[in-house]
Amino acid sequence: MNSLYAAMGPTIFEQMSRLAAEKGAVNLGQGYPEDDGPLDIREVAARAIIEGPNQYPPSRGLPELREAAAEHYRMHQGLDLDWRTQVTITSGGTEALAAAMLAFIEPGDEVVLFEPFYDVYLPMVRRAGGVPRVVRLQPPLWAFERETLAAAFSDKTRLVIINTPHNPASSVMSRAELELVAEFCRAHDAICVSDEVWEHVLFDDAQHISMLEVMPERTLKVGSAGKMFSFTGWKVGLACGAPEIIEVFSKAHQYLTFTTAPNLQRAVAYGLTKPRSYFEAMRASFQHGRVRLVSALEGEGFVALPVRGAYFVTIDLAASGIVMSDVDFTKHAIAQGVAVIPYAPFYASPGAPPLIRLCFSKRDETLDRGADALARAKRSAPKF
Ligand code: PMP
Repeated sequence: MNSLYAAMGPTIFEQMSRLAAEKGAVNLGQGYPEDDGPLDIREVAARAIIEGPNQYPPSRGLPELREAAAEHYRMHQGLDLDWRTQVTITSGGTEALAAAMLAFIEPGDEVVLFEPFYDVYLPMVRRAGGVPRVVRLQPPLWAFERETLAAAFSDKTRLVIINTPHNPASSVMSRAELELVAEFCRAHDAICVSDEVWEHVLFDDAQHISMLEVMPERTLKVGSAGKMFSFTGWKVGLACGAPEIIEVFSKAHQYLTFTTAPNLQRAVAYGLTKPRSYFEAMRASFQHGRVRLVSALEGEGFVALPVRGAYFVTIDLAASGIVMSDVDFTKHAIAQGVAVIPYAPFYASPGAPPLIRLCFSKRDETLDRGADALARAKRSAPKF
């Protein structure tokens, strides 16, 4: 068996979900909206199943969806994409990431990652034979220095993975940060995998800028209909980039899943044509949850980090007067009735800061019960 997977224990998410189910805890851990996305999109999917065809769509995706994706990104992000050569549909953002690692990494290549990172990146990089080089982002703004980036790049760097808006940190990369990464990619002949699955989940004045706009010639942009329409179970991903990049990427995709359910593709094609007001309303509903949860927690003396994008808020345990590690506090919180996510699994190197991630795309009642349980956990936490 492959040693990477054979040596891997159950993830912290599985452990926490199991404990949460045993204790009947409120789940502010896993990142999904409690209410399903738009009914009209679901109806298109349902009709498409009945009317068919239900046979293999083209490996790169239904033309109508690829066209809709190109048009969507033209309207929302000013990107100029030829749907025939620059868009491939995958089985979720996750498959796009896996196909990208397989397509772009040769064993021994170095891959620059920003820590904390979405937990799937590291095993995917390692399994593809990549050697991770980690740049640590500094809270509360999750910034990075030019020197740190320079130290992570070498002659062997072939790939860089960025994530904006960021899960778990809820930060959004600025144009200057994207340009800095692009400068290093160009200087080192590296490709950038830009995980933009949270592109529509933005707060306050945060703006999403796609790396594909900044560095069109060497970026693979990853999007996810699951995040755009609150259907996390659908697993329809959008991979976009220069024709040469999409060409090789699509070969890896072809031998992973080959294609994705045609009814869901048709429904997402319909969804992508929704007007700006749909995306504004979605953001407003997440904003409601954010304000409700964050103000309840701040009222209890918790210190929250800024939220710019993605429906998560990070709580700084030390600043909140809690002297436990993130993993210990998470176990303690479950016993008090609420599941949250510790930051530890988002770090590769030791010394992760004591932070926890909470998901606020939940109903008011769930958020209120979660906040009450967290307040109990804070009050009953050991004081030294
Ligand atoms: N990247 C990030 C940063 C994510 O948060 C997620 C989902 N949690 C994914 C990728 C995976 O997207 P999908 O569900 O479409 O596979």
